[in-house]
Amino acid sequence: MTNFTTPLLPLMADIWQRTLNWQPTTQQQKQFQQLYELILEGNRQLNLTRIIDPEEFWEKHLWDSLRGIAPLLSGEIDFPVSSASPTFIDIGTGAGFPGIPVACAMVKDPPFLRNAPRTAIACQITLLDSTRKKITFIEQILSELPLNNAKTLVGRAEEIGQHPQHRERYDVALIRAVGTGSACAEYTLPLLKKNGLAVIYRGNWTEEETTALENAVEQLGGVIESIEKFTTPLSNSIRHCLYLRKVSNTPAKFPRAVGVPTQKPL
Ligand code: SAM
Repeated sequence: MTNFTTPLLPLMADIWQRTLNWQPTTQQQKQFQQLYELILEGNRQLNLTRIIDPEEFWEKHLWDSLRGIAPLLSGEIDFPVSSASPTFIDIGTGAGFPGIPVACAMVKDPPFLRNAPRTAIACQITLLDSTRKKITFIEQILSELPLNNAKTLVGRAEEIGQHPQHRERYDVALIRAVGTGSACAEYTLPLLKKNGLAVIYRGNWTEEETTALENAVEQLGGVIESIEKFTTPLSNSIRHCLYLRKVSNTPAKFPRAVGVPTQKPL
């Protein structure tokens, strides 16, 4: 099996610090390494990810996952903390991204939160996917790492968003590679409490997409709070993160029935 930690650690430690003002603890480094190995193993049976090269895995799955939440944790974007243990949901988590690295980083007293309010410490994250076998695989990962601040949920975002146990229950909703901007808004905003934040991870993003998204977000009770453009530290690839704030209740008709958010975008 490819050894990912040994050759990369000195370089990666420096990049974490320089780009996110964060250093993983020894325990977190071990969890990242273990996560990588478990995913390589799982890939033999399930089509989990095509990103298996160690540096690519580090950049696209670990760094990218944490870059999306870094502005919340540094205080640059107002972090909606309704309790000492904010609730996160990762919609369409697939093999666990961005949710698992976020769960590893946001444990009690992480060094990440140097400039952030001390209440914003540990998150409880729900990893949601519509594919049962991916969730079964994630459950194995959670027990092996082990991670006790993450749990799983099988279902479609359109149905979960209408379920009283989940609707308007989360402080932060993360979503990466699940659909168009407006579909992501329709999946995330109904699940958020008022003042909650959706983080939409994108590669490229255009002004035209922003205009279309503004209209969708408004119908769903949100606003686009900010859009960050940045490059990744190893391959210099372009990324965008869109931060949507929920400002009023989402009308009951959203999210619409399964498939409608993608077939008839708002
Ligand atoms: N977020 C992961 C990542 O960035 O590596 C996985 C992205 S993968 C391309 C999309 C995932 O979203 C798949 O695992 C799929 O099963 C799930 N998915 C797609 N539509 C969904 C929906 N409406 N509700 C829940 N999960 C969905």
